[in-house]
Amino acid sequence: MYELIKASENCYYIDSPSKVGIYKQSDNGVYLIDSGSDNNSAKKTLRICEEQGWGIKGIINTHAHADHIYGNAYIQQRTGCDIFCSELDRPFIEYPIINPLHIYGGYIPKEMEHKFFLAKPSKAKSINCSDFPSELRTYDISGHSLGMIAIITPDNTAFVGDIVSSEEIIKKYGITYLLDIKKHLESLDFVENVSADRFIMSHVETVDDIRPLIRLNREKIFEICDVILVLSKEPLTFESLLQKLFYHYDLRMSIRQHSLVGSTVRSYLSYLKNEGKLDIVIDDNLILWKTV
Ligand SMILES: [Zn+2]
Repeated sequence: MYELIKASENCYYIDSPSKVGIYKQSDNGVYLIDSGSDNNSAKKTLRICEEQGWGIKGIINTHAHADHIYGNAYIQQRTGCDIFCSELDRPFIEYPIINPLHIYGGYIPKEMEHKFFLAKPSKAKSINCSDFPSELRTYDISGHSLGMIAIITPDNTAFVGDIVSSEEIIKKYGITYLLDIKKHLESLDFVENVSADRFIMSHVETVDDIRPLIRLNREKIFEICDVILVLSKEPLTFESLLQKLFYHYDLRMSIRQHSLVGSTVRSYLSYLKNEGKLDIVIDDNLILWKTV
């Protein structure tokens, strides 16, 4: 844990629960790709860079989820480095309270003030500004978050954030977090056709060929859609449907899981409604979801 792994000529990552990627721009200057899931990770990242004689020129966030931006504030306070992200994820980095509020769908109970949801604020710049290293290519791969990006380095290494989950994570969590299902499916199609030499993801082992993982994740999304459509043959309230999905995927309910999985299920419901596969019935002041 927290070992520096060399992935290519100029790319590294720090092996941790939420990987910190490193792009070595010069012998003594690096950009971090995401900043780890807590201050401990940020401290270790700073120490590793110091040992290597690398100055941190900036942090590039693939997206603004707390486990990817938590180290931003700690590292920025100590180095004064720039932080770059997409326009859409920037408010979440500068005002991180937005993240748990938008996942929960209202003001949050104390249990949601957890490092998994709520990071510390840091100052960010857009990847479109002139300070962003021009040799890096960035691509919109949103859907998992509002503005997730892929970063491709000159040595053809693709940092793709949370574009896919591993087989183990899918088995364990059943329904992994997504915001915009339609956009995410388009992003999976896009990344499937990116011809990078290696793909570095935050919570999945690095691979040379990402296509099997893309197929696995896409099939899982279609499976979840099918399960929702079968369950909703009988009109169901959101809470009843969520309960049935928790039983189906053997999940344990808590306020955090209700928020996280519930938020994702609401996104699935919107997707299926927009695709004309689900409808809303209002009965006795209840909203019921019903398969068309
Ligand atoms: Zn994420």
